[in-house]
Amino acid sequence: MQFIDLKTQYQRIKPGVLSGINNVLEHGQYILGPEIAELEKKLAEFCGVRHCLSCSSGTDALLLSMMAYGVGPGDAVLTTPFSFFATAETIALLGAVPVFSDVDINTFNIDPDKLNETIENFVSGKHHVLKENPGLKLKGIIPVDLFGLPADYSRINKIAEKHGLFVLEDAAQSFGAECQGKKAGSFGDIAAASFFPAKPLGCYGDGGAVFTNDDTVFEKLVSLRVHGQGVDRYQNIHLGINGRMDTIQAAVLLEKLKIFPEEVQLRQTAANYYSEKLREFVALQHIPEDSLSVWAQYTLLSDNRVLLSEQLKKRDIPTAVYYPIPLHLQKAFEYLGYKAGALPVSEELALKVISLPMSPYIKKEEQKEVINTILEIM
Ligand SMILES: *Cc1c(COP(=O)(O)O)cnc(C)c1O
Repeated sequence: MQFIDLKTQYQRIKPGVLSGINNVLEHGQYILGPEIAELEKKLAEFCGVRHCLSCSSGTDALLLSMMAYGVGPGDAVLTTPFSFFATAETIALLGAVPVFSDVDINTFNIDPDKLNETIENFVSGKHHVLKENPGLKLKGIIPVDLFGLPADYSRINKIAEKHGLFVLEDAAQSFGAECQGKKAGSFGDIAAASFFPAKPLGCYGDGGAVFTNDDTVFEKLVSLRVHGQGVDRYQNIHLGINGRMDTIQAAVLLEKLKIFPEEVQLRQTAANYYSEKLREFVALQHIPEDSLSVWAQYTLLSDNRVLLSEQLKKRDIPTAVYYPIPLHLQKAFEYLGYKAGALPVSEELALKVISLPMSPYIKKEEQKEVINTILEIM
């Protein structure tokens, strides 16, 4: 059994993908070819957002977004400690300071009540990161839509507005998800998506996108993506990066986008089946009624994760742990001075989470085997 079955999908879309790639090879516009503009238009439409800027990865999408908001030294950016490293890494790469705020034990996403507490603690001058960095100013919030479930933006956006902070939605795992009838990518002031192969919508290499309704921010993003260029190529008005998506990856994504809505449905069906059979026996990520996860990961909590993964592995069932170390306890962030116990919910989740095989093409028989093995072990 595969953890994520990308091969079945490839067999399904093979002729379209090959002809899409072949078109790029024939027209020869490998950089910012016509497929890029076509993809950006389709992705923006899909999310119901005015602008989409394709880019080289989800990490660069985060980086470009924060550069567009002028994040740099002297700034602090709030985020969740229970995420992929890139979420906080990009804050620090820009010379700003990541300030972690704990997650909700049920949704695994940043907890708005705790976010209020963290901000209170910060603006009253009591937060420990201020000792090393006096004068630090809060600039924005990066909520992460973990495992494909949108964070609680109706509350987060109000908190952000009250304190004059931007909201950057880390939608790396949630492209295709929904909340209150709106699509992931549309919930903050700006959003970053990833098309890494294993994400719900993935290309055949690295890729990402930034979404925004703000014309001025978009104009700056266009410049930042190509070394901060001005109206002509050898005039530079900002410090930017080389952050373009390859035309070949855009051709792949255009083909995959055609079947993506159906794949989101298939993911939903597979997740519902797991939940129906497991709900009574194990703790699962809670999906609020107004939300639709895209199930980048199907994750449960176990007090004996090692035993569970070993037993599953014996039956050729792969599992994965996202994420075993919360960001505030990563060696690279030691300098921030967080201690074990500082963010207890993230630390507990890091010890208990385990993700099961999930893809639109997982077979019911495979799911049955996973479910039966789990129930037997328990
Ligand atoms: C995958 C991921 C990223 C980074 O995306 P890449 O395309 O791999 O650079 C950022 N944030 C989260 C939450 C992710 O899961």
